Amino acid sequence: MTQEYDLIVVGGGPAGSTAATAVALRGHRVLLLERETFPRYQIGESLLPATVHGLCRILGVADEVQQAGFTLKRGGTLRWGRDPEPWQFSFAMTPRVPEPTATAFQVERSRFDEILLRGARRAGAEVREGSTVRRVVADEERVRGVEFTDADGNTRTAYARYVIDASGNTSRIHTGVGGGRVYSDFFRNLAVFGYFAGGARLPEPNSGNIFCAAFDAGWLWYIPLRDDLTSVGAVISPEHIDAVQRDARGAWRDMIEACPEVSRLVAGVPEATEAPYDRVRVRRDWSYWKQSFWKPGMALVGDAACFVDPVLSSGVHLATYGALLAARAVNAALDGSVPEQRGFTEFEARYRREYRVFYEFLIAFYDMERNEDSYFWSAKKITNVDLGEAAAFAELAGGLVSRDSAVVRTDWHSAAAQLDGAVGELATSDGRMNPLLSAPVVGETFRTGNDLQEQALYGGPLDDAGPAAPDGLAVTSDGLSWIKV
Ligand code: FAD
Repeated sequence: MTQEYDLIVVGGGPAGSTAATAVALRGHRVLLLERETFPRYQIGESLLPATVHGLCRILGVADEVQQAGFTLKRGGTLRWGRDPEPWQFSFAMTPRVPEPTATAFQVERSRFDEILLRGARRAGAEVREGSTVRRVVADEERVRGVEFTDADGNTRTAYARYVIDASGNTSRIHTGVGGGRVYSDFFRNLAVFGYFAGGARLPEPNSGNIFCAAFDAGWLWYIPLRDDLTSVGAVISPEHIDAVQRDARGAWRDMIEACPEVSRLVAGVPEATEAPYDRVRVRRDWSYWKQSFWKPGMALVGDAACFVDPVLSSGVHLATYGALLAARAVNAALDGSVPEQRGFTEFEARYRREYRVFYEFLIAFYDMERNEDSYFWSAKKITNVDLGEAAAFAELAGGLVSRDSAVVRTDWHSAAAQLDGAVGELATSDGRMNPLLSAPVVGETFRTGNDLQEQALYGGPLDDAGPAAPDGLAVTSDGLSWIKV
């Protein structure tokens, strides 16, 4: 059996492009197989600063993303919880984040994902669109490759030392790793979403904010994509499934009507008629995770591995970060610096920790009996950063708690020291912290995120890309691999 490739990546969404780019940048032979021909539609349009300023830089696409003309997102506006008035957070509310990096974008995913996929090609990956992976090729020892149908309809087999499944929530091959998905008892929702050809904007400087408004049946998102395009979606409990199945467009309009804050913004605005925004779509958005994220020769990343409720827009962040972690394990195994098992164990530990921070905070966030200050308090309790409560919330909602807030400061050495202090304090916390929002989890995630953005912004670790666990691994200075410490 010839190993034509070092890595085969299944799926060319943000997770797949990240994994392919990060391994190709190390000079390895990468094949990426994508079922669709890009640009293709996807939901998940509101990004976090951690993706825009961290991951995109490591992948070499930050400038292209900056210049693409996407709507600038400074934070979020929420009609959420007990308070009847909307309240907001800005990514710049934390002093750790200077203005230029305290922003993200609202993106048309067709365009954003294409930039990432082009980046993978540029980095040297062989990208084949219109190629659907049918099954994984494996023996008793390990995964060896995949069988796929190519763009001409021919069945082909490709072999590699590693396979990464990044084929999203519809993955057919994830079951080969760790069995089925474990579904959250808490987050079981349904999303119905569509587009308007315009819509009112929030007053400056928040016109690019995501607006999330809770109403009786659930909550609505309002995402300004372009002057003439707004994404509006309802996340509702499954009891509304019948109405949605009967008439998705009608149900979508009814949900908007039931939420005065959003219906006011689209009053008199026509629905979008341009493809692919002319459809109303439905997605079950139950949160889930896999019991295992890897087995010999194969790893799962992005929605193929786990998904958490979208209210804090963490999906693309988790997908790209998880993919980078997996790519580090592959790179380290390929160059012989860290054995496969150790590298993948580190990947899984860090990825789960990242997921848990969002999952656990969101449980507190869904308590509608609380108000803004109380949510901020929860964020502060989770992060235990040396900041005000509102700033702690802004960091968490920006993906900066888990991906590092300190590194975006110019005096980054002292920021790193401050971060270490904060992490240390977490470890000696007085026990008053909600055990659900467990400090060690957050502390470790903080440390991991620190390393990642240091690499993205400064080309290397600031002081010490320390391991996640006493026997864990550190990160190489280019951010693309593990090293033993
Ligand atoms: P995907 O983006 O789904 O990419 C997977 C790719 O694999 C696709 O291109 C697909 O064509 C390809 N593929 C599938 N099967 C095969 C196969 N057999 N062979 C080859 N290729 C294959 N996230 C945010 O960050 N912000 C948001 O505002 C947000 N809002 C959301 C709202 C809702 C209602 C939902 C459900 C999700 C939302 N998300 C959001 C989450 C976001 O959509 C996902 O987390 C993100 O797209 C995951 O990226 P991925 O690369 O893992 O998968």
